[in-house]
Amino acid sequence: MTTMACIFCRIVERSAPAEMVYEDDELIVFKDIQPRAPIHVLLVPREHIATVNDLTVHHIPLMGKLFLVAKTLAAQWGIATPGYRLSVHVGRGGGQLIDHVHMHLLGGWDR
Ligand code: AMP
Ligand code: ZN
Repeated sequence: MTTMACIFCRIVERSAPAEMVYEDDELIVFKDIQPRAPIHVLLVPREHIATVNDLTVHHIPLMGKLFLVAKTLAAQWGIATPGYRLSVHVGRGGGQLIDHVHMHLLGGWDR
């Protein structure tokens, strides 16, 4: 289920723009609009799940897949070594601004 009140659902539905870098039947990956690293993308399940607090046992394969897609893209982009950062914000106290579960992939620093 998607909801048009949610910007990430609108991107999933292609009714809002995004620079898409990967998509499959379960998730999409697009560039963060305010990048905080040379490479900064968001991995977003197609299903609207507000926060990690709403995950159930049903979501275990989906969450595993987020990591698999993240590491595959990192390898493709040549940042598996030296490394990169994956982060998930949970709730306002955790810095979450968009209430649709997503994982940040950041990297490409000159280290
Ligand atoms: P957070 O909820 O803290 O994980 O942060 C949400 C992230 O989504 C921020 O890094 C924003 O820059 C990014 N963002 C918000 N709206 C868009 C959009 N329309 N397209 C791409 N990235 C977005
Ligand atoms: Zn949503």
